[in-house]
Amino acid sequence: MGKNIIILGAGLSGISTAYFLQEFDWVESIALLEKESRPGGLCRTIEKDGYLYDIGPHILFSKDIEMLELMLSVLEEKNDLKRSNQILYKKRQIQYPFENDLSKLPDEELSYCINAFNHNPYEEYEASSMIQFFLKTFGEGITNTYLRPYNEKIWKYDPAFMNTSMVDRIPKPTQEEIRRSAAGETIEGYLHQLYFSYPSQGGIEAVPNGFLKRLDPAKCAVYTGKTVCGVERIGEEYTVRTADGGAYEADMVISTIPIQALTAASRDVPEEIRECVNSLRYNSIAISFVRTPYDLCGENYAFMIPDKNVTFHRISKMDFLGSAYHHGDEATYMVEVTYRKNDSVDIMTEAKFQEEIRDGMVEIGFARRKEDVDILDITKYEYAYVIYDLNHSGNMVKIRDYYAQQGIILNGRFGNFEYWNMDRVLRESYELSKRL
Ligand SMILES: Cc1cc2nc3c(=O)[nH]c(=O)nc-3n(C[C@H](O)[C@H](O)[C@H](O)COP(=O)(O)OP(=O)(O)OC[C@H]3O[C@@H](n4cnc5c(N)ncnc54)[C@H](O)[C@@H]3O)c2cc1C
Repeated sequence: MGKNIIILGAGLSGISTAYFLQEFDWVESIALLEKESRPGGLCRTIEKDGYLYDIGPHILFSKDIEMLELMLSVLEEKNDLKRSNQILYKKRQIQYPFENDLSKLPDEELSYCINAFNHNPYEEYEASSMIQFFLKTFGEGITNTYLRPYNEKIWKYDPAFMNTSMVDRIPKPTQEEIRRSAAGETIEGYLHQLYFSYPSQGGIEAVPNGFLKRLDPAKCAVYTGKTVCGVERIGEEYTVRTADGGAYEADMVISTIPIQALTAASRDVPEEIRECVNSLRYNSIAISFVRTPYDLCGENYAFMIPDKNVTFHRISKMDFLGSAYHHGDEATYMVEVTYRKNDSVDIMTEAKFQEEIRDGMVEIGFARRKEDVDILDITKYEYAYVIYDLNHSGNMVKIRDYYAQQGIILNGRFGNFEYWNMDRVLRESYELSKRL
């Protein structure tokens, strides 16, 4: 007899896990339970007044060629694009990555950055936090001018209390590169994401949709509007309950829903494990979809904004991604603001939030006047970014051990609580299907 599997959550992890598992003869059926009315999770695309936008800028790139090719193969059509991202610093555009375009800085900051890079007292230390890594790798000038303020803004968490998981693969620039960058040369950096693809139609949701179309209906079923609220194991059998009164039986449960939601739905979780789960840090995100009647940002996609007087940390122009996302002379943007429960952004009224977005658009020079900023939509997502605080790995070791003992398999960005992009999500789902 084959196994009946329930997958909690139908984001890209849930969908791709089903996609890989359906190939195996030992798999009899796969039911995906998704709380939203549509599958796709963070890879959904929102349609508003005839426009499309994603939950923040999503692009398709990877060093994992096998998974990248798979992702691209499920698309009907794609646009191939070259990155054009900028850092906005004192109304100047510094091409991303910052350290490769130093000559665009005002003179004072330029000499601070080069001097501190060339005479760096932090170089010899072991870096055990994000900020130590920045100081060691780039010196105090680049750190204090850009990396520290930008990271404080996006993470809303002091980088001194974050580990190096996010950053320790960032290459250290050579003295030669810094000298050329300071002398006026713009050097392309982070080459693995210099070129990327994006679906020609349908936004990033075309990716999960492409995999959904490839699910075998004889084996797989996706149920939406199903909020998982109970997971119970009796012997070798599992019962999963949903908030609408549904009950589903299975031989195997794979959870891609946030570990917090799984723990809330599980009975008899020891206090120590609940405390570990409660200590996990993450950021939520608000995406404002904004239109201006003209385009003042040029042929660019994403802009990073370290200036703390502007509420948002990043703004990305949808129009850059292809003709399906472009409307006449106007420009449309995804504007991102991270927040956490009860912080100043979370408790802000919507009117004040909108006001801050309009002010920011004028401040960065993308709108001539506030009246030109048309906020078409604001959507919020509780689980957006895993924060690698100093206790992250210790907490996750205990949590993973506990769920392994329960026979519940964890997968996904928030199911496993790791900062995984789409390529990594696919790789993990693929490896998991082979392991099972
Ligand atoms: C701002 C931003 C930009 C990004 N940019 C990129 C990029 O450029 N390139 C890239 O490759 N990746 C990018 N990513 C990452 C990408 O979005 C994720 O890797 C991917 O979407 C994670 O999929 P997942 O299925 O693991 O998680 P999710 O998409 O979070 O899916 C989890 C699913 O579980 C459901 N769920 C939650 N609770 C319950 C419950 N109780 N019962 C039932 N269902 C539940 C949710 O509704 C959701 O559908 C970005 C992410 C963000 C936030």
